[in-house]
Amino acid sequence: MIDLLAIAAHPDDVEQTCGGTMLRMADAGYRTGIIDLTAGDMGTRGTSETRIEESHAAAKILKVTHRENLHFPDARLENSMAGRMTLAHRIRELRPRTVILPYWQGRHPDHYRASEIGYEACFLAGLRKIDQYTEPHRPYKIVYSSIYANVTPSFVVDITQYFEKRMESLLAYKSQYSGGTDLFPEESEIRERLSSVARFYGNLIGVRYGEPYVVKEAMRIDDIMNMPVRSI
Ligand SMILES: [Zn+2]
Repeated sequence: MIDLLAIAAHPDDVEQTCGGTMLRMADAGYRTGIIDLTAGDMGTRGTSETRIEESHAAAKILKVTHRENLHFPDARLENSMAGRMTLAHRIRELRPRTVILPYWQGRHPDHYRASEIGYEACFLAGLRKIDQYTEPHRPYKIVYSSIYANVTPSFVVDITQYFEKRMESLLAYKSQYSGGTDLFPEESEIRERLSSVARFYGNLIGVRYGEPYVVKEAMRIDDIMNMPVRSI
């Protein structure tokens, strides 16, 4: 059982998109988990075994209590009935209240497909009759990580205190992010790119680093006298 589940296409997607939020929620006492749909076996560097090992090292840094890989086909991820059902079963067992999915549009087909598979699996997981051995469970809230989508976020999470740890979790993928002997230029390039993106979103809410999300429903506010983020 976990409180917050992030579903992503590839190992290291969470580290680049919503890892700060995962860390912040773990620090707040919530149980967090990650399901990676593919093992990144089409990547040019390293093997899928290496990436899975690295993803477990990254999971420790992100303080998630559960991480698993469903080994769906990388770079040609399909929204198949079998795939949706497998994921729906995992959701029924983990029973998250909130799920983070990738934004539903993007350059990489695996990312928007993961979004679609994730959404449909959350729906299926709530149907009693899909299987008689597990209890139905439909997550209460789905939020879409929109860091690489050029859209206005519905909200931004302040990850200022967690940015460095998130960076560390990404660099745990040594096969991807260390170019052999000369690793420093590459690392500094990644750091610059990620910090400028996080800085941009942080700026939208008046903090140093932020992670953006989109929700499909309206956000409810009960006390408009206590809304954060200054207007002028
Ligand atoms: Zn990816």
